[in-house]
Amino acid sequence: MLNHRSINLIFPLLFVLLLTLDFRIGISNWFYPILVVLKLAIMFWGSYFINSNYHIKTWCEVWTDKKEIAITFDDGPDKNVTPALLEVLNKHNAKAVFFCIGRKIEGNEAVLKQIDSEGHLIGNHSFSHSNFFDFFTAGKMKREFEQSDKLVFDAIGKQMNLYRPPYGITTPAMKKAVKEKQYETIGWSVRSMDSMQRNEQKLMNKLTKQLKPGAVFLFHDTWAAVVPLIDKFLTEAKAQGYKVVRPDELFNVKAYK
Ligand SMILES: [Zn+2]
Repeated sequence: MLNHRSINLIFPLLFVLLLTLDFRIGISNWFYPILVVLKLAIMFWGSYFINSNYHIKTWCEVWTDKKEIAITFDDGPDKNVTPALLEVLNKHNAKAVFFCIGRKIEGNEAVLKQIDSEGHLIGNHSFSHSNFFDFFTAGKMKREFEQSDKLVFDAIGKQMNLYRPPYGITTPAMKKAVKEKQYETIGWSVRSMDSMQRNEQKLMNKLTKQLKPGAVFLFHDTWAAVVPLIDKFLTEAKAQGYKVVRPDELFNVKAYK
């Protein structure tokens, strides 16, 4: 399997192989920088693409014939958006998971309680969602996870078990922190880019094109236009025979500890 551990084993062996070949038959010096660039490219791919499973085993989609999909929301809670979104989800009888940022929880505890009482899930998305989160040590990440865990526990009395990496980037330090906390890491198969692409029709076209059994959609409950977008998307999904299921059911993992 192509993961960080196997790459760290394979590349020293390849380096020794190059040295041996160089010694025996003489090879171009270009092979050495090519080896370094290849390793860096694999590490970039593994860290940047959440479905690579390079650092952390991540649930991104399931292979199934059943017309089931899951929807997830990142970066909330937002008292101006999340309650309106919950109303739309209720209308469609669709349950989702909200990956909340810890620092946004203070003052929004009522929203958190509403998410929980209406049958949706809450997952950990770090405390700060700092731009530099991916450069943090495992210890610093763990402290952030625990800060968020406590805020959610204080609000709804449940210990989070689901985690989504900020920006979808994974690192060796994150692997260590996630392993210690024993979270299930949830990714996605369809990144709507809803926070960047504000043209609703274009977004709808993109989303409906990617509707397929077992798909997991990523949205953000941070901007008001996501509410009508979700309304339309769920109407279209239902018209095509799709049912929205909660990610814990789709992946058969525990929602809380
Ligand atoms: Zn995020």
